[in-house]
Amino acid sequence: MLAPCEPFPLPLRPQTYQRVYLCRCGNQTFFRNSVCVNCSAPLGYEPLIGKLLPLTPGPAPSTWLLDCAESGSSNILYRSCANLTSACGCNWLVRDEDGETLCISCRLNRYIPDLSDPVRAEGWNKIELAKRRLISSLLALGLPVGPPLTFDFLATLPDGPKVTTGHSNGTITLNIEEADDATREQNRKQLHEPYRTLLGHLRHETGHYYWDRLIAGSKWLAEFRELFGDDQQDYAAALQKHYAEGPSVGWEQKFVSAYAASHPWEDWAETWAHYLHMEDTLATAASFRLDINSVEVRVAPFETDVADEEFLAFIHNWVRLTAVLNELSRSMGLQDFYPFVLSRASVAKLHFVHRVMRDRSTAQ
Ligand SMILES: [Zn+2]
Ligand SMILES: [Zn+2]
Ligand SMILES: [Zn+2]
Repeated sequence: MLAPCEPFPLPLRPQTYQRVYLCRCGNQTFFRNSVCVNCSAPLGYEPLIGKLLPLTPGPAPSTWLLDCAESGSSNILYRSCANLTSACGCNWLVRDEDGETLCISCRLNRYIPDLSDPVRAEGWNKIELAKRRLISSLLALGLPVGPPLTFDFLATLPDGPKVTTGHSNGTITLNIEEADDATREQNRKQLHEPYRTLLGHLRHETGHYYWDRLIAGSKWLAEFRELFGDDQQDYAAALQKHYAEGPSVGWEQKFVSAYAASHPWEDWAETWAHYLHMEDTLATAASFRLDINSVEVRVAPFETDVADEEFLAFIHNWVRLTAVLNELSRSMGLQDFYPFVLSRASVAKLHFVHRVMRDRSTAQ
């Protein structure tokens, strides 16, 4: 067992994807950029390579070649996603041979907001940026991305029923009012949540989708029920009880959030979202070569039943990183960067998500 302040010997998890890139001029570029701010080179994100790359005009109009020898794709022709010039502002690329106008992320949309309304158009831009971040990590983790996964971004109409954010049979619905910061903050306070973001919503709802694809009827189901409980209990009744009575006393010992206590499916979706938060944030830290072992934070190692050194290093690095980030947030008078505390039970559930993610063979 390591002493509390001893650096953990393992490095960050092997980097599965990058969050910082280089232009041909040597300037650093970032996930949302479509033009280099230093040399004005056009940039595009190749989702299957997982990199934002400088582009060179191709032989045909509106085509691009990747300016990147390491990709091994120097002869492949690309086009910009047709949503580059819409309110979406998508900077992803499409392979010309695919014959598609929209990129792999934008193709997942079924309904988008009415873009003649500038407020909704702005909201959609924010939603799509969060969605691309999510989709890029799902691709990097080797998860299946494509039909039947579908997104509906809907507004509640004056005389219509209220649009509920959720997942059903592969379709993820998001009420676009959540893109409005003031509304989302109001909803957060009303529901007593410590954290509520567009990215968090999308990560949570994909948890439900991948439960159907990776857990239901699979070799994982028995272990899932041991850790998360019986998913066959009445879902509607469980949610109704949660909203009427709140979580049971001591939920913090068993669940990553209060909402996770409502039903095993919600527990899974919350844990899944949490794992994606951690994976992306640690990948970003690694992209900047942030050395978490050099951070002087006294964190006692978790008492845990999990015997997986690589995963425990991931958890411990996360705890150290977020301890510092929380203090930095407080220095700016902001809310905590990471307003959660991981319990022993939550770590065991995160480890289960980790193992499911790593097991590509479960993809159906
Ligand atoms: Zn440049
Ligand atoms: Zn796109
Ligand atoms: Zn849910």
